[in-house]
Amino acid sequence: MLNVTFCGAARTVTGSQYFLEYQAPDGSLFNFCLDSGLFQTGQKLNLYKINSHLLFDPRKLDAIVLTHAHLDHCGRIPYLVKHGFGGKIYSTTATMKIAEVVMMDAARLNGESKSKQTPLKGIKNRNNESVVSDSERFSYQEIISTIGDTAANLELEMESLGLYGQDDVLETMRRFKTFEYHQKFRIHPNLEVEFWDAGHILGSACAVFTEISSGKKIVFSGDLGNKNKPIIQDPEIPASFPELTHIFTETTYGNRLHGKLDPKERLRKIIFETVKSGGLVLLPAFSIERAQEVIYYIVELMQENKIPRVPIFLDSPMASKMLKICLEHPELYDPEMQDKISQKANPLISKNIQILETPAQSKSLNQFDKPCIIIAGSGMLNGGRILKHLYYHLENPNNTLLMVGYQAVGTLGRQILDGSKEIVVEGKRLEVKTRIENINEFSAHADQAILKDWVVDLTDKKNNSSKVKLFLMHGEKDASLTFGKEIETMLPNKIESYWPRFGEKVELWG
Ligand SMILES: [Zn+2]
Repeated sequence: MLNVTFCGAARTVTGSQYFLEYQAPDGSLFNFCLDSGLFQTGQKLNLYKINSHLLFDPRKLDAIVLTHAHLDHCGRIPYLVKHGFGGKIYSTTATMKIAEVVMMDAARLNGESKSKQTPLKGIKNRNNESVVSDSERFSYQEIISTIGDTAANLELEMESLGLYGQDDVLETMRRFKTFEYHQKFRIHPNLEVEFWDAGHILGSACAVFTEISSGKKIVFSGDLGNKNKPIIQDPEIPASFPELTHIFTETTYGNRLHGKLDPKERLRKIIFETVKSGGLVLLPAFSIERAQEVIYYIVELMQENKIPRVPIFLDSPMASKMLKICLEHPELYDPEMQDKISQKANPLISKNIQILETPAQSKSLNQFDKPCIIIAGSGMLNGGRILKHLYYHLENPNNTLLMVGYQAVGTLGRQILDGSKEIVVEGKRLEVKTRIENINEFSAHADQAILKDWVVDLTDKKNNSSKVKLFLMHGEKDASLTFGKEIETMLPNKIESYWPRFGEKVELWG
């Protein structure tokens, strides 16, 4: 018997967490989680409430299988450890290393907010509105909009605003046990797991679960990658199994095709023009994956003599750690990157790249006025070292502020993109005089076509006697439902799709 409870990424794209309860043929019970990520979108204060609310008892959890190291997939693991989870965490080696960087950073952020924010009393549900002040009610609505109205009946509790500390992360790291792609392992004597390359970020995996005694299989996509990304492999073409019973697939772009993306050409044009006018490029980038991709393209453009060889300052301790991990795992590179390495032209290693470790080194750029590229976090300008650079360089019209990803509502990045002529950074009003650019062509997620091929390949050998149940996860309403409808039309005898609610429990194997 196997049941799943959807504790996140249900009707939303954040907070991935599935709680699975397995009863072996001998009657023994085994509980495990697939991923345990943080809810990331929404107002910070509210996120602490929703993230601290668990739908199961972590003391009764026996194992966690982790697909990849993005915060919305691994960020709640230390919280589970802090509250009594004592089992093993299974992932690839690269995922374990990146997860440590990501969770440590989250622990630091949690600590910061603890000192800044005042704890709120418990908020009940909508029927209890009388006990909730106006400001708290607004907060509650924020949570609802964060995870969808299906959470309206939840009791949200908040014991403290810091979810966990760095000690909890260190304790978490002791629980990891790593396995590489296609190295089969057992999390229970009767449950085997195999990781496939998901092509999403370094070390990312899809997970295939097999019940040894019956041969039944379930596949979790994790986050599935886009094709033709630099550095890492494309998502692996999955094997197909007649015994497949369920697929859990992400549907972030289930209703969308990426079209022809060429971020490198846009980078070339913007950097070339800025350097030509004597300016510097401020490039806020997400530390995990995006910063490495950007470096890859910029160095490649320099190697091809398409842009001048100006200094590239990497001013993000987290991105620097990520770069180091990336360099430690050449076995995970795609053929193009392997080729470059054999020609001694690895774009992640260049004498133009200068890694700024300390705040003092970062500060040395304040008066720097020669053409250069400064890559710093955070990607949406809602914190990090990039703010200091804005402070010193935003008012120079020769410079360019180049954003390379989605800017969420409420962030400084969004405010600038929406055309604000004046912003406040560290208490000082600044006029936005730089050129503002945004490259949206980077995408770490598969589009509808890639997702469809993936499901078709998975179900190729499935006979028509019973349909595979396809859970539409990690997507907004239209993305998930459009994908479900289209894949059912393509595979009418093989697939039956389902769009689970947050908190819903479903029986997988009877
Ligand atoms: Zn991800």
